[in-house]
Amino acid sequence: MSGGMGGVTLFQSLKRLITVPNDNPELTLAQFKAFSKQVPLLYFILLTNMLSLAGTHQNSAPFWLVKVIPFVFAVIFIVRGLGWIRESRKTVDAAYAYRRLVATNRLVLPISVFSVVWSISLIPYGNDYQKAHVAFFMSITVIGVIFCLMHLRSAALMVTFLVIMPFAVVMGMSGEPTLIATAVNMFLVSLAMIAILLRHYSDFTKMNEQQLTLLAQQDALRDKNREMQLLSDENLRLANLDSLTQIANRRSFFSNLASAFERAREDNARLAIGVVDLDGFKPVNDLYGHSAGDKVLVEVADRLSAFETSDCCIFRLGGDEFALLIDMDNMDEKALVEFGQRVCASISLPIMIGNSVVHVTGSMGIAVYPDVGLNGQDLYERADFALYNAKRENRASVVVFNARQAKALFRLRQVEDALFAADLERELSLAYQPIVDAGSSHTVGFEALARWTSPVLGPVSPAEFIPIAEQHGRINLITRLLLTRALQDMTSFEGEPYLSFNLSPHDLAVGDNVLRIVSAVKGSGIAPQRINFEITETAIMHDFEQAAQSIELLRALGCQVSLDDFGTGYSSLNHVHKLPLSKIKIDRCFVDRIDERPASYKIVKSVLTLCSDMGLTAVAEGVEREEEVRVLKALGVDAMQGYYFSKPLPRELAAARLESETNRKPLSVANGA
Ligand code: C2E
Ligand code: MG
Ligand code: MG
Repeated sequence: MSGGMGGVTLFQSLKRLITVPNDNPELTLAQFKAFSKQVPLLYFILLTNMLSLAGTHQNSAPFWLVKVIPFVFAVIFIVRGLGWIRESRKTVDAAYAYRRLVATNRLVLPISVFSVVWSISLIPYGNDYQKAHVAFFMSITVIGVIFCLMHLRSAALMVTFLVIMPFAVVMGMSGEPTLIATAVNMFLVSLAMIAILLRHYSDFTKMNEQQLTLLAQQDALRDKNREMQLLSDENLRLANLDSLTQIANRRSFFSNLASAFERAREDNARLAIGVVDLDGFKPVNDLYGHSAGDKVLVEVADRLSAFETSDCCIFRLGGDEFALLIDMDNMDEKALVEFGQRVCASISLPIMIGNSVVHVTGSMGIAVYPDVGLNGQDLYERADFALYNAKRENRASVVVFNARQAKALFRLRQVEDALFAADLERELSLAYQPIVDAGSSHTVGFEALARWTSPVLGPVSPAEFIPIAEQHGRINLITRLLLTRALQDMTSFEGEPYLSFNLSPHDLAVGDNVLRIVSAVKGSGIAPQRINFEITETAIMHDFEQAAQSIELLRALGCQVSLDDFGTGYSSLNHVHKLPLSKIKIDRCFVDRIDERPASYKIVKSVLTLCSDMGLTAVAEGVEREEEVRVLKALGVDAMQGYYFSKPLPRELAAARLESETNRKPLSVANGA
């Protein structure tokens, strides 16, 4: 059994030695490459050896043996040799290389047989020298061929045995000592040659394997590098992409802006930034929920993306704010504004969210370099300032940062600087504007209004500095300081008028701030019922839930809460219904010339109906003329406030007014504060 196995193994080993291996395509290719360069030389050796032997036997051997056969084979050798020269220049695949190697392996047999048979058949015709030439022919051909077939082990082995064996037999049988010695010598040299060949072949295979391993490692490394590169490219892409809308994000905007600005500066080109903010987005979020808000943002991003060209890139800066970076080479300012208006118009088209239609509009602020902007950030700030004005002055509009705005921005920076440096305790004061009962015209309360006299800028209106203080986080301090002072002042007023005190949205936005207000009220000794907090619609819109909680807390304490500037903001009647308010202050814009303006008249009339339905007190603000007083009284307003009755007064004058009213003295014309 084992002998049988051994036999099979030996047979397999022998078979392996004389077949072309096909288990390693790269090795086959390397073999073919090395081999194809040597085959032409192989044919050259065969050709010259054959011709030289035929030449020395020309006159002694038959014509067919030294002319016809050599001629036919010479042609075959030349054709094959030239064929291989062409072959060696081709790029081939492993399968082709294998086929060619197998074909060559097969061809070795007839060529060897031919060489042996042909050269042996010349022996009978030659003298001793010629016989020696035959021996020389055999030896030199075998050695040459072994060398040339070095990369095709199977062929080299076959040639050796096919030529050496018969040759040795023939020479041995000749009885001629020189020829026998040559045969023995050649046999031994051939063995040595085979040993060299086998070692070379194994070295060649090993070297190839090492090279292949190295190449495979290099390939793997290259693949890994490519993978890493792709990964880092993807990370970079994601880092610059807004995850909700899939458009470029804030980070991408600022990096693009910096490079675009540098390019514009170097090329003396015009560059514009458009900053877009949605109007009415917050109510959508509040009324329909955050997923609806997200859908609106995605839709707006899609609409903006339609404007994207090689000259205009779109970004989402965050929240409901977007930006455009516009290369203005092919655009003048008029075209730019028209472009901005088209962008805003596309935003204002209705958006379908499920079965509901929602409506948002967009305002855009634009700044153009080199008209303004010292660097990218500066240009952005100007566009943002223009946006702020666009929103404040006229929603859904486009505003380009211009000289007027530059002046306003300059003033804003001045106020900011002065406010930062201000000694608020000393520089802030309060003015009190009487609120009078519509029926009796008696002062029932005072609205406390902040006054700031800056040592640098002089008096600054609260309409100017309060928003700045809100932006820079100083408003809570101002509220605390002024509320404490107002509560203190109330103790000196006769007749227990109520105090109307303005709260900022920021005061309501954080629970802690409200608690501080509550403790200030509690600590003042003034009955909470005498205190009315005025809140604006912005406070409610900012964060309805939080605002509602804060209002509840103040109401629970016993204070009143009124909605200031009613009608100017975005709050819906829905909001008014949901909040535990006590008063509504009808904004000055509806009171102004109400006797001449039917629209204002109708609005005030319906607001008053609303107030009486809901049990709310209605206060009209900014009353300046007698006609307005008459109409408002006729409509049934509860209380009024305005220059017609009194300008905001310093504490002493406010107290004097109360005193004179109590004494029923006629009121002298009060000086405005
Ligand atoms: P507001 O709460 O609506 O206050 C009424 C504003 O209208 C006051 O302006 C007042 O001086 C002015 N006013 C009153 N009667 C008339 C009138 O007949 N005609 C005209 N044209 N104006 C009249 P003021 O004092 O400049 O305050 C502006 C705004 O600043 C206030 O509007 C309020 O929102 C805010 N503010 C004032 N003081 C404070 C404060 O202490 N805290 C907070 N958070 N905001 C304040
Ligand atoms: Mg007010
Ligand atoms: Mg007001």
